[in-house]
Amino acid sequence: MNPSTSPELLALLACPECGGNLGLSPRPAEGPASPAGQAVRHAPDIAGCEESLICAGCGRSFCIRKGIPLLYSDDIDRAHIEEEEKLAELMATHTPSGREILHEAQWRESKKEFWGFVKERVSGANLSILNAGCGIDRDFFDLEGAGMLVAFDLMPSLLERLGAMYGSKHNVAGAVQALPFREGSFDCVCCVDLVHHEPERLPGIIRSFHRVLKPGGTLFLEDINAWGLFQFWKSIFLPVPVHGALRSAYHRARRSPHRPADYEFPTSVWRVRKLLAEAGFREMEAVPQRAYPNTGPAGLAVYRALSRFDRVRRYHNFHYMFFAVKQAAGAARLR
Ligand SMILES: [Zn+2]
Repeated sequence: MNPSTSPELLALLACPECGGNLGLSPRPAEGPASPAGQAVRHAPDIAGCEESLICAGCGRSFCIRKGIPLLYSDDIDRAHIEEEEKLAELMATHTPSGREILHEAQWRESKKEFWGFVKERVSGANLSILNAGCGIDRDFFDLEGAGMLVAFDLMPSLLERLGAMYGSKHNVAGAVQALPFREGSFDCVCCVDLVHHEPERLPGIIRSFHRVLKPGGTLFLEDINAWGLFQFWKSIFLPVPVHGALRSAYHRARRSPHRPADYEFPTSVWRVRKLLAEAGFREMEAVPQRAYPNTGPAGLAVYRALSRFDRVRRYHNFHYMFFAVKQAAGAARLR
């Protein structure tokens, strides 16, 4: 039997196109009319749906498959999903060797630092916490006990695996730039290593995190830093297409198992800070981190020596990590 979507989760969902409320329909909608009297417009995921959600605003119908609502906006790029699925598969099945073992260990360390920081700051038992672009990240589920954990990703197959592997109960598929949740749904939004997959959409992504947070809610954002100690000369001074071409050539030459997609690009820690302020966040803090992934032993030694400076740990790490609070008074200014 398929898992079903919980009523608590349904209460948070909204249409990714118009933001309207979604009503549960026991079977995939086939009728000519929605509750609003408009023609039902099928999302292109109808195969295998056990239930559907119908938007009271625009009449669109969305599939629920294996208990996972598939809430994609109309402009979703199917090729992008396939590309991301390939990358995720590569990362899940790859066993690091040689130099990659150090990268992998530092990468894990940086995730431990991120989730350790989140755990320190999150207190309460009835919180709603969104992990936007969750990937296969076991550490998120350590927050169980803090409340309702919602895993959100582009790929339904990955969410199914989270359910099977870690008992993830509340799973939603969709795109981060059109978060299908009602305004003010979450006490916390966590987002790890997602932004560099959608660098062009950064302002919209930050605004959508702001929208789905409750006033006073907290954003924990980590991503790859264009101003990282060993990457700023490329990501800041080289034109983006040149950087992309050089990076592809490098990974091909090394036969590297991790080949970043062409659209991936690090984002500037300073720009992110500015966008957070513009979106209405306050108490923004770049959190210092000790781990520095994706460098060799010599690079790591240099980073360790320089990271005695607080500024280096906050602004020139491989990742930036922000903690920011949604200002209560600013809540109404954004859509
Ligand atoms: Zn709608």
